Amino acid sequence: MFLEQARKLDREDPLARFQDEFYLQPNTIYMDGNSLGLLSKRAEQSLLDSLEDWKENGIDGWTQGRQPWFYMSEIASELLAPLVGASPEEVIVTGSTTVNLHQLVATFYQPKGKRTKIVADELNFPSDIYALQSQLRIHGLNPEEQLVRVKSRDGRYLVEEDIIDAMTDEVALVVLPSILYRSGQILDMERLTAEAHRRGILIGFDGCHSVGAIPHSFSKWDVDFAFWCNYKHLNGGPGAVAGLYVNRKHFGVLPGLAGWFGSNKEKQFDMEHSFIPADSAGAFQIGTPHVLSLAPLLGSLDMFREAGIEQIRTKSLLLTNFLLELIDAELVGMGFTIGSPREEYVRGGHVGLEHKEAARICKALKENGIIPDFRAPNMIRLAPVPLYNSFEDVWNVIQMLKTIMEEKQYEKFTNERDVVA
Ligand SMILES: *Cc1c(COP(=O)(O)O)cnc(C)c1O
Repeated sequence: MFLEQARKLDREDPLARFQDEFYLQPNTIYMDGNSLGLLSKRAEQSLLDSLEDWKENGIDGWTQGRQPWFYMSEIASELLAPLVGASPEEVIVTGSTTVNLHQLVATFYQPKGKRTKIVADELNFPSDIYALQSQLRIHGLNPEEQLVRVKSRDGRYLVEEDIIDAMTDEVALVVLPSILYRSGQILDMERLTAEAHRRGILIGFDGCHSVGAIPHSFSKWDVDFAFWCNYKHLNGGPGAVAGLYVNRKHFGVLPGLAGWFGSNKEKQFDMEHSFIPADSAGAFQIGTPHVLSLAPLLGSLDMFREAGIEQIRTKSLLLTNFLLELIDAELVGMGFTIGSPREEYVRGGHVGLEHKEAARICKALKENGIIPDFRAPNMIRLAPVPLYNSFEDVWNVIQMLKTIMEEKQYEKFTNERDVVA
Protein backbone atom coordinates (compact mmCIF):
# COMPACT_ATOMS: atom_id res chain seq x y z
CA MET A 1 0.00 0.00 0.00
CA PHE A 2 2.74 2.47 0.96
CA LEU A 3 4.80 1.36 -2.05
CA GLU A 4 1.90 2.13 -4.37
CA GLN A 5 1.45 5.48 -2.67
CA ALA A 6 5.17 6.19 -3.20
CA ARG A 7 5.00 5.30 -6.87
CA LYS A 8 1.93 7.45 -7.36
CA LEU A 9 3.64 10.42 -5.70
CA ASP A 10 6.68 9.86 -7.95
CA ARG A 11 4.53 9.81 -11.07
CA GLU A 12 2.92 13.09 -10.07
CA ASP A 13 6.21 14.75 -9.09
CA PRO A 14 6.97 17.81 -11.27
CA LEU A 15 10.62 17.77 -10.13
CA ALA A 16 11.27 14.11 -11.00
CA ARG A 17 13.07 15.11 -14.21
CA PHE A 18 15.96 16.61 -12.23
CA GLN A 19 16.98 13.24 -10.83
CA ASP A 20 18.71 12.27 -14.10
CA GLU A 21 20.89 15.34 -13.89
CA PHE A 22 22.66 14.07 -10.79
CA TYR A 23 25.38 11.47 -10.38
CA LEU A 24 23.58 8.87 -8.32
CA GLN A 25 25.53 5.75 -7.45
CA PRO A 26 23.94 2.45 -8.45
CA ASN A 27 22.28 0.54 -5.60
CA THR A 28 22.72 3.48 -3.28
CA ILE A 29 20.14 5.79 -1.77
CA TYR A 30 21.66 9.06 -0.70
CA MET A 31 19.93 10.69 2.29
CA ASP A 32 22.75 13.01 3.31
CA GLY A 33 22.21 15.99 1.03
CA ASN A 34 21.95 18.23 4.09
CA SER A 35 25.61 17.53 4.86
CA LEU A 36 27.05 17.35 1.36
CA GLY A 37 24.81 17.66 -1.68
CA LEU A 38 25.52 15.50 -4.72
CA LEU A 39 27.26 16.46 -7.94
CA SER A 40 25.05 17.36 -10.87
CA LYS A 41 26.05 17.38 -14.53
CA ARG A 42 25.45 21.12 -14.69
CA ALA A 43 27.75 21.76 -11.73
CA GLU A 44 30.38 19.53 -13.28
CA GLN A 45 30.09 21.42 -16.56
CA SER A 46 30.49 24.85 -14.99
CA LEU A 47 33.61 23.63 -13.17
CA LEU A 48 35.00 22.21 -16.43
CA ASP A 49 34.27 25.54 -18.15
CA SER A 50 36.46 27.35 -15.64
CA LEU A 51 39.24 24.81 -16.06
CA GLU A 52 39.01 25.31 -19.84
CA ASP A 53 39.15 29.07 -19.35
CA TRP A 54 42.32 28.65 -17.33
CA LYS A 55 43.78 26.22 -19.88
CA GLU A 56 43.06 28.47 -22.84
CA ASN A 57 43.35 31.98 -21.42
CA GLY A 58 45.67 31.97 -18.43
CA ILE A 59 45.37 35.33 -16.68
CA ASP A 60 42.80 36.57 -19.18
CA GLY A 61 40.32 34.09 -17.73
CA TRP A 62 39.63 36.82 -15.16
CA THR A 63 37.88 38.96 -17.73
CA GLN A 64 37.52 36.97 -20.93
CA GLY A 65 36.55 33.47 -19.90
CA ARG A 66 33.14 31.92 -20.62
CA GLN A 67 32.52 32.68 -16.94
CA PRO A 68 34.83 35.65 -16.23
CA TRP A 69 36.28 34.97 -12.78
CA PHE A 70 36.41 38.64 -11.82
CA TYR A 71 32.59 38.78 -11.86
CA MET A 72 31.84 35.21 -10.86
CA SER A 73 30.96 35.97 -7.22
CA GLU A 74 28.47 38.59 -8.34
CA ILE A 75 27.00 36.30 -11.01
CA ALA A 76 26.47 33.56 -8.41
CA SER A 77 24.95 36.11 -6.04
CA GLU A 78 22.33 37.06 -8.61
CA LEU A 79 21.26 33.44 -8.84
CA LEU A 80 21.26 33.05 -5.06
CA ALA A 81 19.35 36.21 -4.19
CA PRO A 82 15.87 34.78 -4.95
CA LEU A 83 16.59 31.82 -2.65
CA VAL A 84 17.09 34.11 0.34
CA GLY A 85 14.58 36.81 -0.56
CA ALA A 86 17.02 39.63 -1.24
CA SER A 87 18.09 41.86 -4.06
CA PRO A 88 21.29 40.69 -5.80
CA GLU A 89 23.33 43.56 -4.31
CA GLU A 90 22.48 42.35 -0.81
CA VAL A 91 24.06 38.94 -1.40
CA ILE A 92 27.64 37.91 -2.08
CA VAL A 93 29.18 34.50 -2.61
CA THR A 94 32.49 34.52 -0.78
CA GLY A 95 34.58 32.85 1.90
CA SER A 96 33.28 30.01 4.03
CA THR A 97 30.45 29.93 6.54
CA THR A 98 32.66 30.40 9.56
CA VAL A 99 34.81 33.08 7.91
CA ASN A 100 31.68 34.96 6.87
CA LEU A 101 30.36 34.80 10.41
CA HIS A 102 33.67 36.26 11.61
CA GLN A 103 33.42 38.98 9.01
CA LEU A 104 29.85 39.90 9.94
CA VAL A 105 30.43 39.87 13.68
CA ALA A 106 33.64 41.86 13.22
CA THR A 107 31.48 44.40 11.38
CA PHE A 108 28.20 44.47 13.29
CA TYR A 109 29.18 43.66 16.85
CA GLN A 110 29.87 47.08 18.36
CA PRO A 111 29.78 46.78 22.16
CA LYS A 112 28.96 50.11 23.80
CA GLY A 113 28.40 51.02 27.46
CA LYS A 114 26.46 48.20 29.07
CA ARG A 115 25.34 46.79 25.71
CA THR A 116 28.08 44.21 25.29
CA LYS A 117 26.47 40.77 25.15
CA ILE A 118 25.94 38.42 22.23
CA VAL A 119 22.98 36.05 22.34
CA ALA A 120 23.27 32.61 20.71
CA ASP A 121 21.79 29.25 21.70
CA GLU A 122 23.05 26.08 23.27
CA LEU A 123 21.99 23.91 20.31
CA ASN A 124 23.98 25.77 17.67
CA PHE A 125 26.74 24.27 15.57
CA PRO A 126 30.07 24.41 17.45
CA SER A 127 31.93 26.43 14.82
CA ASP A 128 29.50 29.33 15.23
CA ILE A 129 30.03 29.30 18.99
CA TYR A 130 33.83 29.19 18.62
CA ALA A 131 33.68 32.16 16.25
CA LEU A 132 31.51 34.20 18.64
CA GLN A 133 33.75 33.35 21.61
CA SER A 134 36.86 34.43 19.74
CA GLN A 135 35.24 37.67 18.55
CA LEU A 136 34.44 38.53 22.16
CA ARG A 137 38.04 37.81 23.14
CA ILE A 138 39.29 40.14 20.39
CA HIS A 139 37.30 42.89 22.13
CA GLY A 140 38.99 41.98 25.41
CA LEU A 141 35.74 40.54 26.78
CA ASN A 142 35.18 37.27 28.59
CA PRO A 143 33.00 34.85 26.59
CA GLU A 144 31.91 33.12 29.80
CA GLU A 145 30.14 36.34 30.79
CA GLN A 146 29.30 37.95 27.48
CA LEU A 147 28.07 35.05 25.35
CA VAL A 148 24.53 34.14 26.36
CA ARG A 149 23.47 30.73 25.14
CA VAL A 150 19.69 30.36 25.27
CA LYS A 151 18.82 26.98 26.74
CA SER A 152 16.66 24.38 25.12
CA ARG A 153 13.91 23.02 27.37
CA ASP A 154 14.09 19.50 25.92
CA GLY A 155 17.45 19.24 24.16
CA ARG A 156 15.79 19.32 20.73
CA TYR A 157 14.02 22.60 20.18
CA LEU A 158 14.24 26.26 21.08
CA VAL A 159 11.24 28.22 22.32
CA GLU A 160 11.08 31.68 20.76
CA GLU A 161 9.82 33.26 24.00
CA ASP A 162 13.02 32.05 25.71
CA ILE A 163 15.11 33.73 23.02
CA ILE A 164 13.12 36.95 23.29
CA ASP A 165 13.50 36.90 27.08
CA ALA A 166 17.27 36.82 26.58
CA MET A 167 17.13 40.05 24.53
CA THR A 168 17.90 42.39 27.41
CA ASP A 169 19.32 45.91 27.32
CA GLU A 170 22.78 44.38 27.82
CA VAL A 171 22.60 42.68 24.41
CA ALA A 172 24.24 44.16 21.31
CA LEU A 173 23.83 41.30 18.87
CA VAL A 174 21.84 38.08 18.34
CA VAL A 175 23.13 35.26 16.11
CA LEU A 176 20.90 32.22 15.61
CA PRO A 177 20.45 29.37 13.16
CA SER A 178 17.53 29.63 10.73
CA ILE A 179 17.10 25.87 11.02
CA LEU A 180 18.61 23.85 13.87
CA TYR A 181 21.09 21.37 12.47
CA ARG A 182 19.95 18.42 14.55
CA SER A 183 16.18 18.60 14.97
CA GLY A 184 15.58 20.63 11.81
CA GLN A 185 13.35 23.12 13.67
CA ILE A 186 12.78 26.36 11.75
CA LEU A 187 12.98 29.49 13.88
CA ASP A 188 10.54 32.31 13.19
CA MET A 189 13.07 34.72 11.72
CA GLU A 190 10.55 37.46 11.04
CA ARG A 191 9.30 37.51 14.62
CA LEU A 192 12.76 37.27 16.19
CA THR A 193 14.02 40.08 13.97
CA ALA A 194 11.12 42.35 14.93
CA GLU A 195 11.63 41.61 18.63
CA ALA A 196 15.38 42.25 18.43
CA HIS A 197 14.90 45.53 16.57
CA ARG A 198 12.24 46.69 19.04
CA ARG A 199 14.97 46.43 21.69
CA GLY A 200 17.69 48.13 19.63
CA ILE A 201 19.55 44.88 18.96
CA LEU A 202 21.02 43.73 15.63
CA ILE A 203 20.28 40.17 14.49
CA GLY A 204 21.83 37.73 12.02
CA PHE A 205 21.05 34.15 10.98
CA ASP A 206 23.09 31.11 10.04
CA GLY A 207 21.28 29.72 7.00
CA CYS A 208 23.38 26.57 6.49
CA HIS A 209 20.44 24.22 6.80
CA SER A 210 17.80 26.41 5.25
CA VAL A 211 19.21 28.00 2.09
CA GLY A 212 18.14 25.79 -0.81
CA ALA A 213 15.67 23.92 1.41
CA ILE A 214 13.03 26.53 2.28
CA PRO A 215 12.14 29.99 0.94
CA HIS A 216 13.35 33.07 2.85
CA SER A 217 12.43 36.75 2.83
CA PHE A 218 15.47 38.27 4.52
CA SER A 219 14.84 41.74 3.14
CA LYS A 220 11.14 41.80 3.89
CA TRP A 221 11.80 40.49 7.41
CA ASP A 222 14.44 43.22 7.77
CA VAL A 223 17.13 40.77 8.96
CA ASP A 224 20.44 42.62 9.44
CA PHE A 225 22.71 39.91 8.05
CA ALA A 226 22.95 36.20 7.30
CA PHE A 227 25.56 33.67 6.20
CA TRP A 228 25.41 30.08 4.97
CA CYS A 229 27.28 27.34 3.17
CA ASN A 230 26.62 26.29 -0.39
CA TYR A 231 27.72 22.67 -0.20
CA LYS A 232 24.70 21.30 1.70
CA HIS A 233 21.29 21.82 0.08
CA LEU A 234 22.79 23.87 -2.77
CA ASN A 235 25.07 21.09 -4.07
CA GLY A 236 28.04 23.38 -4.75
CA GLY A 237 30.62 20.69 -3.92
CA PRO A 238 32.90 19.97 -0.95
CA GLY A 239 34.21 23.24 0.43
CA ALA A 240 32.12 25.31 -1.99
CA VAL A 241 32.46 29.05 -1.56
CA ALA A 242 29.80 30.25 0.92
CA GLY A 243 27.23 33.04 0.93
CA LEU A 244 26.39 36.08 2.96
CA TYR A 245 23.57 38.60 3.08
CA VAL A 246 23.74 42.18 4.31
CA ASN A 247 20.60 44.30 4.46
CA ARG A 248 20.95 47.31 2.16
CA LYS A 249 20.34 49.68 5.07
CA HIS A 250 23.84 48.74 6.20
CA PHE A 251 25.56 49.47 2.89
CA GLY A 252 28.42 51.86 3.46
CA VAL A 253 29.34 50.39 6.86
CA LEU A 254 33.05 49.56 6.71
CA PRO A 255 33.70 45.80 6.83
CA GLY A 256 35.35 44.59 10.03
CA LEU A 257 37.80 42.56 7.96
CA ALA A 258 38.65 44.53 4.85
CA GLY A 259 40.45 43.27 1.77
CA TRP A 260 40.91 44.35 -1.81
CA PHE A 261 38.13 42.16 -3.24
CA GLY A 262 35.69 44.21 -1.18
CA SER A 263 36.58 47.24 -3.26
CA ASN A 264 34.36 49.01 -5.67
CA LYS A 265 35.24 46.97 -8.77
CA GLU A 266 35.97 50.06 -10.89
CA LYS A 267 38.55 51.19 -8.34
CA GLN A 268 40.09 47.87 -7.28
CA PHE A 269 42.93 47.93 -9.78
CA ASP A 270 43.82 51.57 -9.11
CA MET A 271 45.92 50.04 -6.33
CA GLU A 272 45.31 52.99 -3.98
CA HIS A 273 45.93 52.53 -0.27
CA SER A 274 42.64 54.16 0.68
CA PHE A 275 39.93 51.50 0.60
CA ILE A 276 36.83 52.35 -1.39
CA PRO A 277 34.31 49.61 -0.57
CA ALA A 278 31.71 48.33 -3.00
CA ASP A 279 28.30 49.86 -2.41
CA SER A 280 26.80 46.41 -1.87
CA ALA A 281 27.30 43.18 0.09
CA GLY A 282 30.32 42.75 -2.19
CA ALA A 283 32.18 45.03 0.24
CA PHE A 284 32.41 42.08 2.64
CA GLN A 285 34.63 40.02 0.34
CA ILE A 286 38.20 39.81 1.50
CA GLY A 287 40.62 38.24 -0.98
CA THR A 288 40.70 36.56 -4.38
CA PRO A 289 37.72 34.21 -4.82
CA HIS A 290 38.37 30.46 -4.81
CA VAL A 291 37.26 30.16 -8.39
CA LEU A 292 37.41 26.39 -8.67
CA SER A 293 35.24 26.01 -5.57
CA LEU A 294 32.85 28.62 -6.86
CA ALA A 295 32.40 27.53 -10.46
CA PRO A 296 30.28 24.40 -9.75
CA LEU A 297 27.78 26.56 -7.91
CA LEU A 298 26.86 28.40 -11.11
CA GLY A 299 25.65 25.18 -12.72
CA SER A 300 23.92 24.02 -9.57
CA LEU A 301 22.11 27.31 -8.97
CA ASP A 302 20.85 27.21 -12.53
CA MET A 303 18.84 24.13 -11.53
CA PHE A 304 17.38 25.91 -8.52
CA ARG A 305 16.37 28.79 -10.76
CA GLU A 306 14.62 26.37 -13.08
CA ALA A 307 12.97 24.28 -10.35
CA GLY A 308 11.94 27.22 -8.14
CA ILE A 309 12.33 27.20 -4.39
CA GLU A 310 8.57 27.12 -3.72
CA GLN A 311 8.25 23.94 -5.74
CA ILE A 312 11.29 22.47 -3.97
CA ARG A 313 9.77 23.23 -0.57
CA THR A 314 6.44 21.72 -1.59
CA LYS A 315 8.10 18.45 -2.57
CA SER A 316 10.35 18.50 0.48
CA LEU A 317 7.32 18.64 2.78
CA LEU A 318 5.62 15.83 0.87
CA LEU A 319 8.80 13.75 1.25
CA THR A 320 9.22 14.37 4.97
CA ASN A 321 5.47 13.90 5.58
CA PHE A 322 5.71 10.53 3.86
CA LEU A 323 8.84 9.67 5.83
CA LEU A 324 7.10 10.49 9.13
CA GLU A 325 4.03 8.53 8.12
CA LEU A 326 6.17 5.48 7.35
CA ILE A 327 8.14 5.77 10.58
CA ASP A 328 4.88 5.84 12.54
CA ALA A 329 3.47 2.89 10.67
CA GLU A 330 6.47 0.63 10.16
CA LEU A 331 8.94 1.19 12.98
CA VAL A 332 6.59 0.85 15.93
CA GLY A 333 8.05 -0.64 19.09
CA MET A 334 11.62 -0.61 17.78
CA GLY A 335 12.90 2.10 20.10
CA PHE A 336 12.84 5.04 17.70
CA THR A 337 11.76 8.56 18.64
CA ILE A 338 11.13 11.29 16.11
CA GLY A 339 13.40 14.22 16.98
CA SER A 340 11.96 16.70 14.46
CA PRO A 341 8.84 18.84 14.40
CA ARG A 342 5.68 17.29 13.02
CA GLU A 343 4.16 20.66 12.17
CA GLU A 344 5.08 21.61 8.62
CA TYR A 345 5.69 25.29 9.28
CA VAL A 346 8.54 24.56 11.71
CA ARG A 347 10.01 21.53 9.93
CA GLY A 348 13.10 21.97 7.76
CA GLY A 349 14.44 19.67 5.06
CA HIS A 350 15.45 16.68 7.16
CA VAL A 351 14.05 14.37 9.80
CA GLY A 352 16.01 13.31 12.86
CA LEU A 353 15.35 9.84 14.19
CA GLU A 354 16.66 9.14 17.67
CA HIS A 355 17.70 5.71 18.90
CA LYS A 356 20.15 4.60 21.57
CA GLU A 357 21.89 2.39 18.98
CA ALA A 358 21.92 5.16 16.35
CA ALA A 359 25.66 5.02 15.55
CA ARG A 360 25.61 1.33 14.70
CA ILE A 361 22.25 1.52 12.93
CA CYS A 362 23.82 4.14 10.64
CA LYS A 363 26.70 1.79 9.91
CA ALA A 364 24.26 -1.01 9.07
CA LEU A 365 22.34 1.36 6.78
CA LYS A 366 25.56 2.25 4.97
CA GLU A 367 26.47 -1.39 4.52
CA ASN A 368 23.10 -1.80 2.85
CA GLY A 369 23.63 1.10 0.44
CA ILE A 370 21.73 3.79 2.32
CA ILE A 371 23.65 6.93 3.24
CA PRO A 372 22.24 8.74 6.28
CA ASP A 373 24.28 10.76 8.70
CA PHE A 374 24.82 10.43 12.36
CA ARG A 375 24.90 13.17 14.97
CA ALA A 376 26.16 12.12 18.39
CA PRO A 377 24.95 10.84 20.70
CA ASN A 378 21.80 9.27 19.26
CA MET A 379 20.52 10.84 16.06
CA ILE A 380 20.13 9.45 12.57
CA ARG A 381 19.45 12.32 10.18
CA LEU A 382 17.56 11.51 7.00
CA ALA A 383 17.34 14.17 4.32
CA PRO A 384 15.23 13.27 1.31
CA VAL A 385 16.29 15.89 -1.22
CA PRO A 386 13.63 17.13 -3.66
CA LEU A 387 15.95 17.42 -6.67
CA TYR A 388 17.31 13.89 -6.53
CA ASN A 389 15.38 11.70 -4.10
CA SER A 390 12.12 9.96 -4.87
CA PHE A 391 9.24 8.85 -2.69
CA GLU A 392 10.23 5.28 -3.48
CA ASP A 393 13.67 6.06 -2.01
CA VAL A 394 11.95 7.03 1.22
CA TRP A 395 9.96 3.82 1.18
CA ASN A 396 13.14 1.78 0.59
CA VAL A 397 14.96 3.49 3.45
CA ILE A 398 12.21 2.62 5.91
CA GLN A 399 11.97 -0.96 4.68
CA MET A 400 15.72 -1.29 5.17
CA LEU A 401 15.57 0.22 8.65
CA LYS A 402 12.84 -2.24 9.54
CA THR A 403 14.90 -5.19 8.27
CA ILE A 404 18.01 -4.00 10.10
CA MET A 405 16.05 -3.80 13.35
CA GLU A 406 14.20 -7.07 12.91
CA GLU A 407 17.39 -8.95 12.05
CA LYS A 408 19.43 -6.99 14.60
CA GLN A 409 22.01 -6.38 11.85
CA TYR A 410 23.36 -3.39 13.78
CA GLU A 411 24.83 -5.71 16.41
CA LYS A 412 27.70 -6.45 14.04
CA PHE A 413 29.00 -2.90 14.51
CA THR A 414 30.27 -0.88 17.43
CA ASN A 415 28.06 1.94 18.67
CA GLU A 416 30.68 4.65 18.04
CA ARG A 417 30.87 7.36 15.47
CA ASP A 418 33.44 7.44 12.66
CA VAL A 419 35.86 10.40 12.32
CA VAL A 420 33.57 12.16 9.86
CA ALA A 421 30.01 11.36 10.88
C1 LIG B 1 27.64 23.13 8.11
C2 LIG B 1 27.57 24.20 9.10
C3 LIG B 1 28.67 25.04 9.32
C4 LIG B 1 29.96 24.79 8.61
O1 LIG B 1 30.81 25.86 8.57
P1 LIG B 1 32.04 25.85 7.54
O2 LIG B 1 32.73 27.10 7.79
O3 LIG B 1 31.46 25.70 6.17
O4 LIG B 1 32.86 24.65 7.87
C5 LIG B 1 28.52 26.08 10.24
N1 LIG B 1 27.35 26.29 10.90
C6 LIG B 1 26.29 25.47 10.70
C7 LIG B 1 25.01 25.72 11.45
C8 LIG B 1 26.37 24.41 9.82
O5 LIG B 1 25.32 23.61 9.63
